[in-house]
Amino acid sequence: MTAMVTRACDIVLLGPPGAGKGTQAKRLAAAFELLHVSTGDLLRDEIARRTELGSEAKAFMVKGELVPDELVGKMLMGLLHSQAASGGCVYDGYPRTTAQAALLDGVLAELARRIDAVLFIGVPDEVIISRMDGRRSCSECGAVFHLTGNPPRQDGVCDACGGALGQREDDRAEVVVERLRVYRHYTQPLLDLYRHRGNLTEVDGLGGVDEVFGRLRAALESCRR
Ligand code: ADP
Ligand code: ZN
Repeated sequence: MTAMVTRACDIVLLGPPGAGKGTQAKRLAAAFELLHVSTGDLLRDEIARRTELGSEAKAFMVKGELVPDELVGKMLMGLLHSQAASGGCVYDGYPRTTAQAALLDGVLAELARRIDAVLFIGVPDEVIISRMDGRRSCSECGAVFHLTGNPPRQDGVCDACGGALGQREDDRAEVVVERLRVYRHYTQPLLDLYRHRGNLTEVDGLGGVDEVFGRLRAALESCRR
């Protein structure tokens, strides 16, 4: 008789803004039954709910700057210790700094877990700019579309809920340039950190959503099933 061992699985997605982390993280979370943890979505939700944390965070986000580690950490701690996260998570947009990486290691260690895989989605700069330029998201449910790559059935209307589609304030070209600078300075060094641990797999982020998803899934085969 063989015992089924299902343990928690924690996967970090890294990549520049616009690499498709959000789209792919949702699909991976569904396929592997993991919790999708997007700090960007969590922060936008804090803003929408007009919390104190949200109003503090917004001042940084509209400029394309990072929200201070401490604020993001505070927001995340409770969630990671929750029942919803107990089967493991796909982290999307976290960690973004070496301090955040250390915090994540610490929390997972408390839970007797560790990062099982780090997947880097690589996309050239020119592609990033055009992707962000055409990106539209639903003001109601947060679903993400692209004017040419993944257009909604009806112009300006969300396929999922009928909500109005709009451009994220920080997807404007000037802010995108700053987000790329911030990414290079603060987040890119994490690639070396995870590479040295032998944890990093690089995946080509060019091509359709299904194509990229197939590559990510192949890279993860060893993780759960
Ligand atoms: P993208 O991946 O397309 O850059 P996100 O939705 O992940 O967008 O993040 C949007 C903004 O939210 C960032 O530019 C930053 O201001 C803030 N943010 C999200 N996650 C973090 C984080 N882990 N640390 C600091 N700031 C964050
Ligand atoms: Zn919607």
